[in-house]
Amino acid sequence: MNILFAASEIEPFAKSGGLADVCGTLPRELEAAGHEVVVFMPAYRCVRRCEQPITPTSIELAVPVGSKLISGRLLESRLPNSDIPVYLVEQADYFDRNELYGENGESYTDNCERFVFFCRAVLEAARLMELEIDLVHANDWQTALLPVYLNTEFLDAPPFTDVATLLTIHNLAYQGRFWHWDMLLTGLDWKYFNWRQMEFYGQLNLLKSGIAFADAINTVSPTYATEIQGSEQGCGLEGALQGRSSDLSGILNGIDSLVWNPSRDPYLAMKYTVANWREGKARNKVSLQKQLGLQVNDSLPMVGIVGRLASQKGWDLILPVMKQWLKTIDVQWVVLGTGQPEYETELLNLQHAHQDKFSMNLQFNEGLAHMIEAASDMFLMPSEFEPCGLNQMYSMAYGSVPIVRRTGGLADTVINCNERNLDNGTATGFSFGPFLPQSLEQALAKAVCCFQNGQATWNLLVENGMKNDWSWAASTARYVELYEKTLTLRRQTHQHV
Ligand code: ADP
Repeated sequence: MNILFAASEIEPFAKSGGLADVCGTLPRELEAAGHEVVVFMPAYRCVRRCEQPITPTSIELAVPVGSKLISGRLLESRLPNSDIPVYLVEQADYFDRNELYGENGESYTDNCERFVFFCRAVLEAARLMELEIDLVHANDWQTALLPVYLNTEFLDAPPFTDVATLLTIHNLAYQGRFWHWDMLLTGLDWKYFNWRQMEFYGQLNLLKSGIAFADAINTVSPTYATEIQGSEQGCGLEGALQGRSSDLSGILNGIDSLVWNPSRDPYLAMKYTVANWREGKARNKVSLQKQLGLQVNDSLPMVGIVGRLASQKGWDLILPVMKQWLKTIDVQWVVLGTGQPEYETELLNLQHAHQDKFSMNLQFNEGLAHMIEAASDMFLMPSEFEPCGLNQMYSMAYGSVPIVRRTGGLADTVINCNERNLDNGTATGFSFGPFLPQSLEQALAKAVCCFQNGQATWNLLVENGMKNDWSWAASTARYVELYEKTLTLRRQTHQHV
């Protein structure tokens, strides 16, 4: 099958979160399964720092955005360890900026225009290159206009004849909502600006538009696929999603086992496997303690947290528990993340007050993220909601026992340590339900108690997690199945029109 894959961030070219990991890995897995994939993303300023060679192409683009014709150019690279072409859409005014989507906590004010341009540029480039395409796979709001254009303005225009579309929702909380006049930028007829398609409480909603027009929709875990059809997690789009429930599925993300693998990870002080994890983790812990100026003691429990400092990640639960524990309990905390200024300030204050047992790392640092997974005994991720989550899977692969809230992909990947799950040999971590500090504290206390007094159980949790198959194999097969089903349905429906 020929797949055109479009996303706003792709590892190793640009990354702000898990979307980039997924979009850097899934195309490679599809190629390994025998499919032809081409990938499109914007040429942000940061892509120049990427080690992958990037070369110009002769393809010049002229893209209508509202009443303007915007010029752009296509650059070309490859996904590492693959033959997959990555086409980077260059347009300096839109993409040659410090960040991907905004600065100092504020989104760029022209984000709608930037991604209208990007989506149209992808289609224009595919047309100029006469790409053979069976299916266009769009990801999140930034590329959600692709299914809209392919079912309106570009319907059956070569080379898009019979092209099927899939929209993957990586996080429903980010929808690309803009004032209604931005509809003019899309160049689409106002007739689509209605509550069933592109309009949402008077605004233009790009994700909703994609949900309305894509042939199939999926999200990144089965539990999240169910949750987003309810009012609690539906972010206002539960009605739109319920309306498409027969076309909506959940496919769990996998992890890139070339990159996230403790037996070959170049960032670690000592590489290890499930056969020597005790020594490996102890050596990495001591090394990280020295590096971060923490008390050096490999028997002290270390709790790791890596992720965006956003309320989604449960900081309103973590901070009160952390503050209490730092005063009374001998546990080391290592945090890596950037995000909401109020969390940054509180975490820096804690670092000042408790230098020997608290390390706050306010940065985006890939190497440190790997070291934290390897060095920590426990990994905390009590998200309010979590479409899939990658860090809990990384932590299990690295033998760091996850403590999570049972929601979305966390519920689908972390099996709670209780009698039944220990007996049947599936337990991999600790999970709790209510979004309350005391529930987190209980789970954390249970984990620390098990670490200190229940060696046999702890070993089992670590080893179950490390032995699990977190690779993309099963999920890639599910994506291929979904592509095939979507394409067949699309072609059948079109024959009957
Ligand atoms: P989300 O996509 O919601 O941010 P995920 O757990 O799915 O959460 O993925 C987060 C990804 O971003 C992981 O690869 C994680 O290691 C990485 N990450 C997040 N913050 C940082 C940071 N400050 N430094 C390095 N990596 C980070």
